[in-house]
Amino acid sequence: MTPFSFARAADPAAAVHEGVQAGARYLGGGTNLVDLMREGIEHPARLVDVTALPAGVSTGADGAVTIGAATKNTALAADPVIRARYPLLARAILAGASAQIRNMATVGGNILQRTRCAYFYDPATACNKRAPGSGCDAIGGFNRMHAILGASPACVATHPSDMCVALAALDAIVHLDGPAGARRLPLTELHRLPGDRPDLETALAPGELIVAVELPPLPFAVRSTYRKVRDRASYAFALVSVAAALDLGADGTVRNLRLALGGVAHKPWRARIAEAELRGAPADVAHFRAAAEAELAAAAPLRDNGFKIELAKRTIAAVLTELTGEPA
Ligand code: SF4
Repeated sequence: MTPFSFARAADPAAAVHEGVQAGARYLGGGTNLVDLMREGIEHPARLVDVTALPAGVSTGADGAVTIGAATKNTALAADPVIRARYPLLARAILAGASAQIRNMATVGGNILQRTRCAYFYDPATACNKRAPGSGCDAIGGFNRMHAILGASPACVATHPSDMCVALAALDAIVHLDGPAGARRLPLTELHRLPGDRPDLETALAPGELIVAVELPPLPFAVRSTYRKVRDRASYAFALVSVAAALDLGADGTVRNLRLALGGVAHKPWRARIAEAELRGAPADVAHFRAAAEAELAAAAPLRDNGFKIELAKRTIAAVLTELTGEPA
């Protein structure tokens, strides 16, 4: 591991003051960054510990819920407001990693975790994300876990977070602080698709820090859930995951729908095509399947991951059927 200096920030202003320095990286629970340092993939010159920044869940007068970025994943999943109002978020968090890791991991760190593409973690391979311009060994290699939507000839990696898939479905807003001041950004605009610069993973400016995540009140009464399909029942990343919130009209049509996919793209994938297809349509398996077909129409499989296309369609249809209360 390369030597580094360490600072512990007491508030966001102090963190940003430290974070703009050359080679600085913010440190949350360290469940991803420390691994990357140990493997020689990341070499920060300075770590800025932000775990003392605001944590916890609060509800504003307008009904919006604000989550401090230093909130531990375990605490967020157990919060009574989250469990009651946003059960898909609690389920998504509990589907991720292990209890020990969730006890350490923070909300901000979860959002900014990096891909688990095995080639990214192996300095002996070509990887445009780790070494821009070197190529992508995953494209011609073992790519069962890789992206089917939004990928590029430069990178086919997926974003590993479960929590972010639920946040994308919930229209979460990320509160940022940085050298140019505070700003807010929809979570769906925070992560980038790879394009020709997969090393640029977010829309964050240098030194910008996530200080909180806001969940706007859902404008409709919903049933919601999160389903993760994976190789093992625990401690495995998603092959495909689906976060959904569904509001049905009295006539059995879809009045409103939020739908997002995980395990399929370089970022949490908001399924806006399927949402548009289903708004006002009968809430039945045939229409769920047709919407899933439309959403996956642009999917581009690699050698080993074509199964994800059908898996995503079936999981979307099954999750939405579950939310209608009809037998699958
Ligand atoms: Fe690197 Fe992306 Fe290719 Fe994986 S898929 S080897 S992260 S460029």
